[in-house]
Amino acid sequence: MSGIIVADETSGAIRLVTKVYASLLLACFALLPAYLIAYLFFFQDPTLKFEDHAFHVIAIAAATLEGLFVTYVTWRCYRSSGEPLLRWMTLGFLGFVLIYALHGAFTGLAHHNLWLFLLYGPASRLVMAILLFVALLSYHRPSDAADQRIQPRPWLMWVGLFVLVDLAVAYVANSTIAGHLAVRLSMEGGALVFSVLNVTVLLQRRIRSPLMTIFAISVTAFALASLAFILGRPWNHMWWLAHAIFAAGFFLLSYGVVQAFLTTRSFSTIYSQEEMMARLAAAMARTENALRELERTNRTLERLAATDPLTGADNRRRFTEQVEAEMARIHRGGEPFSVLALDLDNFKAINDRYGHQAGDDILKGFVQRCLDAIRPYDGVARVGGEEFMVLLPRTVLEAARDIAERLRASIASSSFESGRQRQIPVTVSIGVSQFGRDGDTIDAIVSAADERLYDAKHQGRNRVVTAIQIGNQPLLS
Ligand code: GH3
Ligand code: MG
Ligand code: MG
Repeated sequence: MSGIIVADETSGAIRLVTKVYASLLLACFALLPAYLIAYLFFFQDPTLKFEDHAFHVIAIAAATLEGLFVTYVTWRCYRSSGEPLLRWMTLGFLGFVLIYALHGAFTGLAHHNLWLFLLYGPASRLVMAILLFVALLSYHRPSDAADQRIQPRPWLMWVGLFVLVDLAVAYVANSTIAGHLAVRLSMEGGALVFSVLNVTVLLQRRIRSPLMTIFAISVTAFALASLAFILGRPWNHMWWLAHAIFAAGFFLLSYGVVQAFLTTRSFSTIYSQEEMMARLAAAMARTENALRELERTNRTLERLAATDPLTGADNRRRFTEQVEAEMARIHRGGEPFSVLALDLDNFKAINDRYGHQAGDDILKGFVQRCLDAIRPYDGVARVGGEEFMVLLPRTVLEAARDIAERLRASIASSSFESGRQRQIPVTVSIGVSQFGRDGDTIDAIVSAADERLYDAKHQGRNRVVTAIQIGNQPLLS
């Protein structure tokens, strides 16, 4: 077959090594932010700062807009597939956007009310981490019913809940406990824990589908971003790196969502390349089988359309086609051909005497004997009840007459039988004509042969006539 299934033919060992290598690559890639964190942690002075409020506001405004767009796309995917995973992911993105936006909005307060500015960051990440974890737990759960997907109430309830979180964060930020390290740490640490839990469950449940691999890398990035936020201080390089790592995770996850949107609108039914190859190979094998079956059926149909069901001889249509092919060959310089018109003698009387079934058996036996008497490339066609035509390619009239005579003698000397009836005498009359000598159209040579057959009947049956007689003198033969 084609190269599609080449992957299946590779040997087991190299396949295994390649798979392990691919897994390692993914792990190393997912942990890339960890190297950056380690670099800053060990080699960078944590007191170095880059405090630019405008940049921060613009970055968070962009993140909010992007977040809203991703929320919308995820929701569209959910509405199509009804996957609970997508419902929870939509909520995760929505919650993040509704809380994180305030982190940007309060940038200006960084000096007057540091906590009102700072706490929305970890709060948004905690909410998203929890919801993404719930999303993972619902992976492969049955889809929501179509009417359930479009009900606005649950969504409005969640929006209300996120606003409540906003208010709660504002309350904490303005309270005396706001300055406690434990407040920020518990939220950021919580986000870290839920993201790590998420990765652990993904690994433990061996979820390997392509979009879930993207999901795993993104969640690893969220965990490392939380770690970097814990290690960083407002406006220092670690703090900015934490933003970048988080953004990278978010970009990647939204890339996954967009892939789902552009294909199956579902996370679980996007297949890996290997799976797609296997499915493609299976589909191709099915198609090829179906094609072969179709060809077989076509051949059978063609044969059925060209044969007479009782005797298995060719039918008139096939006979005409073959004569036309012979005529075309002659136009290309081929040798002439002849035709025989055959009609069983007194067949009505045979039917009357031995029964219709015997008549049928005789017709079958007759065709068999004809086939035995002629050459493999000659054709026997049944053109009427007990009327037949034989096509003799590359045969001139004289040779055709000999063949017809042999055939006639063979029929006259054979014993036909049917059921308990044995030795039923059967004879045949035959008219012969040759293309070119007796005409150069099908109609002309067939009617010449028919006329001679009629003549044979007239002369007493059980004979071959090659040319029409004038008076008592044969014109030929
Ligand atoms: P002739 O020698 O002049 O040809 O006489 P005949 O009786 O053969 O000719 P006629 O045309 O009068 O009768 C042909 C008979 O062939 C009539 C019909 O019952 C019989 N016949 C035609 N088709 C079939 C068939 O499929 N099965 C059987 N058993 N008989 C058939
Ligand atoms: Mg007849
Ligand atoms: Mg007859």
